[in-house]
Amino acid sequence: MNVKEFMLNDIVEMKKQHPCGTNAWKIIRMGADIRIKCEGCGHSVMIPRNQFAKKMKKVLLRTDS
Ligand SMILES: [Zn+2]
Repeated sequence: MNVKEFMLNDIVEMKKQHPCGTNAWKIIRMGADIRIKCEGCGHSVMIPRNQFAKKMKKVLLRTDS
């Protein structure tokens, strides 16, 4: 199995880190587009779901809140 699962509020690592030097992003919105927020600087970006699945490396932390 090579399925990458992700849920709202997960902290994920991307293949490419943010220019601020942090590579931990929180998923703050799920839909056709995924919105993630950089844990280092608070910058948020919106990525189409299929692109997000390609760019995400792994889930670092599941908060389950
Ligand atoms: Zn950042």
